[in-house]
Amino acid sequence: MHAPPSHKSFDKAQAREPRHGADHIAPDCTGQNFYAEDRGLRDLLQAYLAPADFRRLEPHFDRLGALAGGRLDELARAADKHPPVLHPRDRFGRDEDWIDYHSSYRDMENIAFGDFQFHAMSHRAGALGMDRPLPAVAKYALQYLFVQAEFGLMCPISVTDTSIHLIRKFASTELKEYLLPKMLSGDVATMWKGTQFMTERSGGSDVGAIETTARCEDGVWRLTGDKWFCSHADADVALLLARPEGAAAGTRGLALFALPRRLKDGSRNAYRIVRLKDKLGTRSMASGEILLEGAVAYLVGDAGRGLKQMMEQVNLSRLSHGVRASAMMRRCVNEAMVCARTRMAFGKTIIDYPLLRRQLLKITVPAEQSLSMFLFAASAMDRANTGSREAEGCLRILTPLLKFRACRDNIPVATGSMEVRGGNGYIEEWVHARLIRDAHIGVLWEGTSNINALDIVTRAVGKSRAHRTLQGALTKLLDHATLVPAAFRDRLRTALDRTLVFAERVAAEPALEANARQAASALYHVTSAILMTWEASRPGTDARRALYARFVLDYRLSPQDPIAPHAGEWETEAAEILFGQRQVAIADIARLIEM
Ligand SMILES: Cc1cc2nc3c(=O)[nH]c(=O)nc-3n(C[C@H](O)[C@H](O)[C@H](O)COP(=O)(O)OP(=O)(O)OC[C@H]3O[C@@H](n4cnc5c(N)ncnc54)[C@H](O)[C@@H]3O)c2cc1C
Repeated sequence: MHAPPSHKSFDKAQAREPRHGADHIAPDCTGQNFYAEDRGLRDLLQAYLAPADFRRLEPHFDRLGALAGGRLDELARAADKHPPVLHPRDRFGRDEDWIDYHSSYRDMENIAFGDFQFHAMSHRAGALGMDRPLPAVAKYALQYLFVQAEFGLMCPISVTDTSIHLIRKFASTELKEYLLPKMLSGDVATMWKGTQFMTERSGGSDVGAIETTARCEDGVWRLTGDKWFCSHADADVALLLARPEGAAAGTRGLALFALPRRLKDGSRNAYRIVRLKDKLGTRSMASGEILLEGAVAYLVGDAGRGLKQMMEQVNLSRLSHGVRASAMMRRCVNEAMVCARTRMAFGKTIIDYPLLRRQLLKITVPAEQSLSMFLFAASAMDRANTGSREAEGCLRILTPLLKFRACRDNIPVATGSMEVRGGNGYIEEWVHARLIRDAHIGVLWEGTSNINALDIVTRAVGKSRAHRTLQGALTKLLDHATLVPAAFRDRLRTALDRTLVFAERVAAEPALEANARQAASALYHVTSAILMTWEASRPGTDARRALYARFVLDYRLSPQDPIAPHAGEWETEAAEILFGQRQVAIADIARLIEM
């Protein structure tokens, strides 16, 4: 498929004609390799992956980085403009509903499910030539690269991956034997993809209000109900919650079921996609409403633990959502930087203006924070998978922290990046409009901001005490960050102590519930600032990450006077180091963060 000329990278040499005027327009990221461009990612992958795994997987990061800045990006543009279409009946009037996708979407599926096998890479050997499942760090790094081009399809990819996890962990041997070979297949034409339907009109946050019922007749479960938000609506297997007849009200009475789209004899199961949603973003992917009319389903795990089991999928999705937000923020940074370095105004490139540099900082710092946060969370997952209780505790709180804050930050970052491009950023031919539309879903699905903030404060802090486990891990990292001045590390220790005490107060005092988001944000900011400080101090890692840490400490964790100048001398110099061409030594960075 060929992109229209306007989507190709603009080559100034091709447009020397003065009357053309096109060379006034700043180029975009087309043709970039998003892996090669990303110093932070490259450095941190070496910190978090075993050296042998890094060497083995780096060619794949590089290949996907090039695809994301090239072919995948072209496909994503086309898929966004040609959303899926539902056909409710066939020409004989049979309820054989199906969804038509543009060829660009199918091509992206081939890259994701066939070439990279995202859905299976955590569960079996064979993906990307590996002789065992990939580490979580590698999987999420690959998701991060993919989503810099395409966001919508990451929902079906991730939810297939997480459905496989649930079935492997909780399903009976018989159900595993039925579903897993199909779901783990790398053959895109025949494989079964997964999804998750929970939300009903009665409530998304209030899961206990689910009205779908399950009746067991002759050993076969049949579901009746109406699922209101069903992304990847035509998936081959959906995991969903329903209430068995006679079960308790609320979340305690919910059981987990696997709903196949086709029955064993090949006929359609008794449910219909009633219509597709006309959405603000994620337009390449089909989200619909589903009417269950006595559909056959298989009970997964313990009938009395449906929500508890489903929460494993929700938590895996939340982590992936944080990664997706991070990816979109990185794309925003890349777009803003390309534009800022080339667009001229008043005789200078716009990156030379202090006010524009401050705008770039507001885009870059949250993007870098989220990178550190998701890689640290993914490495905690890897360690938890090998039995570390400490890592499990860290992951418990890192997951909702990342989902909550990175998804929120994505929205102003997307808008800020558009603003750097000026008026063109508002025009649908450029990627910014899509980034802005896609950014907003992050604060809704898999728990709104409030629901995630409450999970952090009331459960992760109040019940699990996971913040104290995290404190132990962060303190160790600070102790190791010896290249960074002790005074700065002491400021971080004080901020950490204050944040933990604040979060505990909010958890303990019901009257303070309205502060849950504030406490969650502070936890995210202090964690990311400590991570970036430790990273900066690692030999071979970009020491400028300590500057990001100082911005977080000054602007997110310290009081500001709104009617006094912000920009200190250090900030001007830091912006010069980050956005100018100045080379610096670690000693300069150390001096700056102490100023
Ligand atoms: C495009 C799209 C795709 C989706 N795909 C799926 C899918 O595939 N599967 C699926 O199951 N769901 C899906 N959802 C549903 C999504 O997860 C829900 O919309 C979300 O969980 C919020 O639920 P709700 O819409 O019922 O809002 P509500 O739960 O009614 O929330 C409304 C507002 O009240 C706030 N609120 C609720 N409770 C509290 C509280 N205790 N304290 C403070 N504030 C509170 C919320 O934060 C929110 O701001 C999708 C949604 C969208 C938009």
